[in-house]
Amino acid sequence: MEIFCPTCREGYRIPCMRVPKTSRMVMCNSCGTAWKQFFGAEPNFIASALDQSVETQREVRRPIYSKAVLQVLREEAALEAKLRA
Ligand SMILES: [Zn+2]
Repeated sequence: MEIFCPTCREGYRIPCMRVPKTSRMVMCNSCGTAWKQFFGAEPNFIASALDQSVETQREVRRPIYSKAVLQVLREEAALEAKLRA
């Protein structure tokens, strides 16, 4: 899902696995504003790799892909292997 800094409007995407159920304090990397972000239920957002939120910078060591993305990557790899054969 995406959140936006209330001060400078910088946008941040948060991988769905990292989104808390209710709310939490977040801080803007650009201007340093801290605010309480309410999340709620948002079933449709897609996990994005390598985000810029304070939380993901600290906690995510490698990209998180959704199952759908992994499926696409596998299909691409298979196609590439076929083309090279
Ligand atoms: Zn900001």
